Amino acid sequence: MKKKRQKTIALIAHDNKKHEIVNWALENKELLKGYALCGTGTTAKLVSEATGLEVKRYLSGPLGGDQQIGAKVAEGKIDVVIFFWDPLQTQPHDPDVKALLRIAVVYDIPIATNRATAEYIIRSSLM
Ligand code: PGA
Repeated sequence: MKKKRQKTIALIAHDNKKHEIVNWALENKELLKGYALCGTGTTAKLVSEATGLEVKRYLSGPLGGDQQIGAKVAEGKIDVVIFFWDPLQTQPHDPDVKALLRIAVVYDIPIATNRATAEYIIRSSLM
């Protein structure tokens, strides 16, 4: 019988949303323990430091981290993206942000772009 691969969740938050993703991760730490975690550089570092969970670090978002995560989605290696983007501030890497949102839709994976949706996803029986 083939062993099921552990699902991987990617975590990304723009600067004004970092406190929100850290709080969300702390509140959901017990659930998150059941998954492989990764994220863009700073987000991964902050979540890992706050929760003590292992979070694989990609490059920082503006330096290509979003693109790295998008590539992993395309390879089928990331199953869920939690992406707290900032709707009130322009980002230097806006094209990368859009590309990641696009690739998540292309590969039909759950992508939470706010906390409410992240709560639904992490508690879903489909997880
Ligand atoms: P960061 O990248 O976690 O390295 O800050 C996030 C982003 O801005 O996309």
